[in-house]
Amino acid sequence: MEISHAHTANIAADIKTQAASLGFDACGYARAQAVDERARRCYRQWLDDGRHGCMAWASRHADVRDDPRRLLDGAHTIVMLAMNYRPPRLQAAGAPQFAWYAYGRDYHEVLRERMRQLATFIRESTGCECRCCVDTAPLRERYWAQQAGLGFIGRNNQLILPGRGSYFFLGAVLTTLELPPDTPCLLTCEGCGACVAACPAGALSGDGAVDARRCLSCLTIELREPLPSWAGQAMGNRVYGCDACQHCCPHNSLAAPTDLADFHPTEQFLRLDAEAIRQMTPGEFSLLFSHSAVKRVKLNGLQRNLAAIDEAKLTDNDHNI
Ligand code: SF4
Ligand code: SF4
Repeated sequence: MEISHAHTANIAADIKTQAASLGFDACGYARAQAVDERARRCYRQWLDDGRHGCMAWASRHADVRDDPRRLLDGAHTIVMLAMNYRPPRLQAAGAPQFAWYAYGRDYHEVLRERMRQLATFIRESTGCECRCCVDTAPLRERYWAQQAGLGFIGRNNQLILPGRGSYFFLGAVLTTLELPPDTPCLLTCEGCGACVAACPAGALSGDGAVDARRCLSCLTIELREPLPSWAGQAMGNRVYGCDACQHCCPHNSLAAPTDLADFHPTEQFLRLDAEAIRQMTPGEFSLLFSHSAVKRVKLNGLQRNLAAIDEAKLTDNDHNI
């Protein structure tokens, strides 16, 4: 479909307005093309070093990950979207801690619903095809978010939106519509290395890559086997995921809480303590987490994590006697 330059400029602005009205906090455009050679090489090296650990999916579909045009025939643009999830209320400090992204409703559901509405808007306004991806396709979301000008990838491997921090979910709408690409964000972490120092598991080397074999977020959520023996000590009180490399980041010091009720924690979630997790039945787990990202770890995974924390505390106590 032929679209005039004036109409393209209008539709580019309209899509961003529509994204904002759907609750997205940032929206930018990147040209759909192969990732640059440096990014491609770094990713291959990360895989070759085995740093993807238990995330076997990371090594699949490398050709698609290198070139998002393989995800949608005729794709011209990647519309990158970010949505704030910083919870307005937090768990009590003594409770087993969940990563903030998992406090509310499963982001896959929340973002997908809204991205589909955006895709419908694009289709109806232009006749162009769209494909929505929210962790559902081999797409390098952070790389494309940087290309689309949303922010930069920090040494903690998170996308950082300047002035707004990193507590954002990312989604991508690939489209055959040609939109004017935004300017990539060229900021960097400069002299800071706070996240490398704060990581309780030594998973960050400072080059922006994470060693998933040590990262507590990967181990407590993705690993289907027993945790390594050192993990309980490193976990402290983290029962699901880890935010240490985000909480310490100076860019997050002014992160505003989300207005989106979908990402607000329920009272029931905030009341969850160690004993409740220890005694939890499959039915209770399902009631509490069936629409939460936490369902990925399953009840036995959550209780495995808690057992590792308990065991590390017992060992500590023994040493203190
Ligand atoms: S999530 Fe936790 S363990 Fe993983 S890199 Fe960040 S601080 Fe380290
Ligand atoms: S803590 Fe410092 S080094 Fe780490 S991501 Fe934030 S700014 Fe970058």
